[in-house]
Amino acid sequence: MLQLQNYINGSYTDPENGTWIDVFNPATGKVYAKLARSGEEDVAKAYAAAAKAFPTWSETTLQERSRILSKIADLIEEQLIPLAEAESQDNGKPLSLALSVDIPRASSNFRFFAHAITQFASEAHESIGTQTMNFTLRQPIGVVGCIAPWNLPLYLFTWKVAPALAAGNTVVAKPSEITPLTAYMLGKICTEAGLPEGVLNIVQGLGNEVGEAIVTHAHIKAISFTGGTKTGAHIARSAAPMFKKLSLELGGKNPNLIFADCDYEKMLATTVRSSFANQGQICLCSSRIYVQETLYEQFKKDFVHRVQQLVVGPPKASETQLGAVVSEAHRDKIEAYIKLATEEGGTILCGGERVTVDDHEEGYYLQPTVIEVTDNQCRVNQEEIFGPVVTLMPFTDEADALQKANNVPYGLSATVWTQHVDTMMRVSHQLEAGIVWVNTWLNRDLRTPFGGTKDSGVGREGGFEALRFFTEPKNVCIQYGKS
Ligand code: NDP
Repeated sequence: MLQLQNYINGSYTDPENGTWIDVFNPATGKVYAKLARSGEEDVAKAYAAAAKAFPTWSETTLQERSRILSKIADLIEEQLIPLAEAESQDNGKPLSLALSVDIPRASSNFRFFAHAITQFASEAHESIGTQTMNFTLRQPIGVVGCIAPWNLPLYLFTWKVAPALAAGNTVVAKPSEITPLTAYMLGKICTEAGLPEGVLNIVQGLGNEVGEAIVTHAHIKAISFTGGTKTGAHIARSAAPMFKKLSLELGGKNPNLIFADCDYEKMLATTVRSSFANQGQICLCSSRIYVQETLYEQFKKDFVHRVQQLVVGPPKASETQLGAVVSEAHRDKIEAYIKLATEEGGTILCGGERVTVDDHEEGYYLQPTVIEVTDNQCRVNQEEIFGPVVTLMPFTDEADALQKANNVPYGLSATVWTQHVDTMMRVSHQLEAGIVWVNTWLNRDLRTPFGGTKDSGVGREGGFEALRFFTEPKNVCIQYGKS
């Protein structure tokens, strides 16, 4: 059986403790690989390799760093099919999605930051009249930790690793133990691209073992984490007394506000996608749909009809629109929320059941589910479900829409559908979210700041924000003599 080892100091190595855990294919429910269950000692080895590599990598010219990162991007592109097949097998997502979104984006992350670093500049402040010049150095931090989740495995892993490396840091990184395969494959790609030994180290294993060891390592100075809010809070508690730099990209419960004057067809098609893409397991999925009351009944009928047409099936089949959810435990969690919805007085308009797929009877398939709720504060409407489940509720006017949208602990993204410029501007200003999409969804320009407010996180990544996070500013103040 395939053994997924650590990638440390440019080589694949077994975990020091010699223990392995099962990795499941969610589409079949069967174990397909063994994963290194690494521990503190492997993180220590990875740190030592990264610390040794740091002085040379941080002094490597921007052109050379950029060339190597571009080469990694090229190789990911060349290996699109095997990487996409691996991602789909590991996560349960439709192969078509891995081919069109996950892997192309992983390549774009490296290409983007390969270019961005050559354009990254710092500031100068001249104190006129005092013969004083200040300039700010933006220096790499040292060894940094990157921890990524399972929903967009290589996409989010590279979203952190690429800027960290571009900025001149060396890295100890951990993918989710649920989806470790593409990060494992990335090691070989990095070696082939000529990334020097020790610059990127990938330690596989459990979050509360390897993740914890990275976060609490005395000399790993910054942590970029994407994952659940509860885990983020735990990491913040551990890292704060060690004065580590932290970037936390956490959960969401994103509203989708649909005003009666919207472009109806475009909104309907996009809302189906924003609700159920990747089985609803994208932190940016809109899981709370609010529709202006004059449009509500029509939307409800048309939306449910469209959702019922969605094809749930094996990830490899070309007609599949929703694959399997990521794990048995996650399916149980989603189902518990569906049950709770009815207990809380919600009405299931469609879905809510498991799907049995031929030849994949043990896979974790669920119907896309739409729930009509009457109480904005019910748990199903307040807590992140992170599956193919959306809630539906009417609103009366702009003020009611905003009140409902903002009345959750989360603040990651929001989507607004209206053709009225005044409405879009006013609502965008008042939504409590790090990202607002108007008349579009998941439309990403990698130069823009990315992240959440409230319980959805701290800090921003994306574009120069990521390079700012992965560098330490140092001001140099020089006073020069008068002539
Ligand atoms: P988790 O928080 O469970 O895990 C995220 C990562 O952290 C995994 O690699 C996990 O390892 C690791 N981890 C778990 N415990 C610890 C710990 N104590 N110390 C350090 N690392 C730890 O999230 P999920 O993987 O379940 O991902 C889903 C969540 O991610 C959702 O809440 C979603 O909204 C959020 N997310 C946020 C995004 C954003 O940009 N804001 C984007 C995508 C997802 P392991 O899996 O091996 O336990």
